[in-house]
Formats: sequence, C-alpha cells, structure tokens
Amino acid sequence: MIEINNVEKRFGSAEVLKRINLKVEPGEVVTILGSSGSGKSTLIRCINGLETLSGGAIRVDGNDVSTAAGLAAARRRSATVFQLFNLYPHMTVLQNVTLAPIHVLGQPRAEAETRARALLDLVGLTAQADAYPQRLSGGQRQRVGICRALAMQPRYLLLDEVTSALDPEMTGEVLDILARLAAEGTTMVFVTHEIEFARRISDRIVFLEAGELIVDMPAEAFFSEEGGLAVPRIRKFLSKMT
Ligand code: ADP
Ligand code: MG
Repeated sequence: MIEINNVEKRFGSAEVLKRINLKVEPGEVVTILGSSGSGKSTLIRCINGLETLSGGAIRVDGNDVSTAAGLAAARRRSATVFQLFNLYPHMTVLQNVTLAPIHVLGQPRAEAETRARALLDLVGLTAQADAYPQRLSGGQRQRVGICRALAMQPRYLLLDEVTSALDPEMTGEVLDILARLAAEGTTMVFVTHEIEFARRISDRIVFLEAGELIVDMPAEAFFSEEGGLAVPRIRKFLSKMT
C-alpha cells in the first residue's frame, strides 16, 4: 500500500502541498485531477523521493521514503512514467528497457531481454526492439517508457500526464495499453487530463486544489450530481475540460 500522511511540501514560502492524506491499496487505480499548478506532479515526485518532504510521511509497503534504505526499497516497488519521453537516445529500445533490470535488479541479460521482448509485444512494438528512440513516434516512445517501467516488475505504477505531449491518435494508443494494465489489476496512481478515460478506468478520483486534496471519492460518485459535481470548484473544472 502507498500511504501518504499529512504530507506538506514548501518551495521557499510557497506551500505547494498542504497536509495531504491519501492511501492507495494494491489493485486500485487512483486518478489525481486538478488544474495546472495544483501540485499533482509534486505529489508524484514526493512518492518516488525526487522531492524531500517539508512535513508528514510517505510509506510504500511500509518503507519510509524519507530514509535512504526506505527509499531504495520503495523505488523497487514503484515505477514512474513522466510526460516527456526520457529514453536514452544512444541506446536501442531493447537496451532502454533492459538497462535497469540488468543493473538494478541483477537479472541476467538473456532473461532481461526475453522479458523486455514480451513487454514490447504487449504494447505492439515487437518490430521496434532494435530501433533507436529518434526513429519512433511520440506514441511509440511513450509505450517504450511504459515498458521500461513495467520491466522493473513494480507493484505500483505512477503516471504523470503520460499522454499530454501526444496527438489524439497516439494518446489513444497509450491509453489502450493503460486500460489493459488497469483491467489486469495493475495498481496505478494516474495524473491525467483525459477525464473520460479517467472516469472509465479509475476506482477513485482525488482532486487537488492549490495544494489541498479537497475530494477523494469513488469515480462513480465523483462524476455524480450529489458527489463531485456538487462541489462548485470541481463542476467548474470538469465543465472546462469536457
Ligand atoms: P501540477 O503538476 O499540478 O501542474 P506542480 O506540482 O508541477 O503542479 O506545481 C505545483 C506548484 O509548485 C506550482 O506553483 C509550481 O510552480 C511550484 N513548483 C513546482 N516545482 C517547483 C520547484 N522546484 N521550485 C519552486 N516551485 C515549484
Ligand atoms: Mg504536472
């Protein structure tokens, strides 16, 4: 389980996260919605230890990310995919996907390559295994990014606006993969602006407003008149997005 307790994050005098509480249980898909600047990326970065907390605690399966040993253990359990395709340009697709399994997990190269090819098959990139990233479309690169995350066999997948740099067709390709992973029971913390998609795949929706988590509801309730839509701020957000 990912447990976020009273988490605060300040950059100088700016309070970017204000006493955030959130739990994500294995098998859940939890989507984080909120306007630009509300703190979504900062929260994801706190979960994987890319930001130090100003207050509170985050535990991933009991591992406190504020300690070096806890963070190392937490990072073996969760993998993050970001908006920008941060693939290594001088490595092939297969090398990008096998790098961490070989060097971090200590998998033998042959085993890592077999697993990587299976993942590339899963996302429709069998033929691109030996290509370099510059030869791929944005959608293909982002699918490689997802493979690279999955190659670490994470219990938790953190996704920060993985489709926002893609055109609609490529967005569809990537969302199809995520829908399949969700249906297979992959635990996800998902930051997105794809509202309709979030509605379909999420168990819960949380809404951040200026660093505060103002709503945490089952997805169905979030989109209902008595639930999320009864909150003026959320109604306004959704009417602008759709
Ligand atoms: P979101 O992902 O919801 O758009 P972010 O988490 O990226 O929001 O940013 C939340 C707020 O924190 C913004 O006001 C942003 O300018 C600020 N912020 C993010 N990272 C930094 C940083 N490294 N230094 C200073 N301010 C930051
Ligand atoms: Mg962001």
